[in-house]
Amino acid sequence: MAPVPLNSSADSSRHTAGSHAAGMGADGAARAYDLIVAGAGGVGSAAAYHAAHSGRRVLLLEQFAVGHTRGSSHGGSRIIRYTHDSPGLAGQMPATFQLWHELERESGARLLQLTGGLYMARQEDAWLAGCQATLEELGFSHQVMDAAGLRRAYPQFNLPDGWRALYQANTGILSATRCVETMVAQAQQHGAEVRTETPVLAVQPDGEGVTVQLASGERVRGSRAILAAGPWSGRFLAELLDFGVPLRVTQQQVAYYAVQDPAAYAVGTFPIFITALEDHLYGFPIWERAGSIKVALEQTARTVDPDGPRAVDDELLARLSALVATYLPGVDPAPVHVEPCLYTETPTRDFVIDRHPHHPQIVIAAGFSGRGFKHTIAVGKLLVDLAFSGPGVYGGPFWQDSYRITRFAQTQTPTA
Ligand SMILES: Cc1cc2nc3c(=O)[nH]c(=O)nc-3n(C[C@H](O)[C@H](O)[C@H](O)COP(=O)(O)OP(=O)(O)OC[C@H]3O[C@@H](n4cnc5c(N)ncnc54)[C@H](O)[C@@H]3O)c2cc1C
Repeated sequence: MAPVPLNSSADSSRHTAGSHAAGMGADGAARAYDLIVAGAGGVGSAAAYHAAHSGRRVLLLEQFAVGHTRGSSHGGSRIIRYTHDSPGLAGQMPATFQLWHELERESGARLLQLTGGLYMARQEDAWLAGCQATLEELGFSHQVMDAAGLRRAYPQFNLPDGWRALYQANTGILSATRCVETMVAQAQQHGAEVRTETPVLAVQPDGEGVTVQLASGERVRGSRAILAAGPWSGRFLAELLDFGVPLRVTQQQVAYYAVQDPAAYAVGTFPIFITALEDHLYGFPIWERAGSIKVALEQTARTVDPDGPRAVDDELLARLSALVATYLPGVDPAPVHVEPCLYTETPTRDFVIDRHPHHPQIVIAAGFSGRGFKHTIAVGKLLVDLAFSGPGVYGGPFWQDSYRITRFAQTQTPTA
């Protein structure tokens, strides 16, 4: 099923005069907003920011508070990196870094701290080989070290012989909660209306526009909607699509461990690291908590209800602490703090970013997995382009064919 292209009346790049400026949709219906965004996590706040910045009348709706801790975008740190194991997203990273820097300049907020990054795995590991090939293909500078070289340069790691590492300088920390708060504040600065503690019950096509039903009983109308509901996306999609989108919501947790010599783990001395150990053990220099580093291990086996309780997974924490004890000799393997967080993943971990196949005024963003935050500022721009621009967006900057929502329709057999 190919996406329905927007008709020419909806294909303007910006509403300036005439029916839209008067609050009327192209079908003559009164609409208070050009764009209604459901969800103020990283993705939704980025979309609201870009849309308001380009002069749209924007309503951003969030079921909790901005910066809340029940979704995926909270906390003091997310990794941003040039290093990827394939060229698609890697090639977008210089432009994505640029967008974050523009937001920093515009807001005056400090959001991105470069740290450098170490990527480590066994000599023969396919992921690391893919990272190296991608860095070479794109001409991104990097250094390669064997295990002995790594131990000399970074005695904080105790990696076994037979391992090797890539160092790439364009790796850093995004202060996640501050990024979200800044995007929301900048959206407001450009005129967006933001309503928190405002759950959306349904988003429905309504002529060429949308009607959004709020839990309060109120209905609001807009010309376009962007759904960016993170772990709650499945509820909207089940109502809106005639095929299923296989999104898995898993609980993750990050843990903080005290270090013996804080100077050896400071930004500038200790880089971000990602390893192929078990489920990609990764970690940061000292950042949001004095004297301790944040370390995590992904888990994708256990799915959860996004509205359910968030208990610490003791088995996952024990596995993580054992890896810390083995591979990070200067770190005390007793965690000082643990924070839960949710991933929402598609089977291939490719994001869903697309227009609704039959109602192109509704744009869907979901499945940002454990790597989506760095891209949110670019994804927000792409979502706004999908909402307001023509078919050329497919193939334009930041677009990837793997984002199409219809890929799931193609893999399902009709039931009747
Ligand atoms: C532990 C952990 C570590 C990670 N590390 C990294 C990393 O290092 N680098 C990286 O790039 N990415 C990382 N990620 C991934 C990244 O954080 C996520 O991909 C990203 O934050 C997803 O953002 P989102 O906006 O899709 O979801 P969310 O942040 O969950 O936002 C969705 C929002 O929609 C709201 N909402 C839902 N339903 C409704 C409704 N009905 N009405 C109103 N509002 C609604 C929710 O309350 C929520 O605020 C990590 C994620 C986790 C959990």
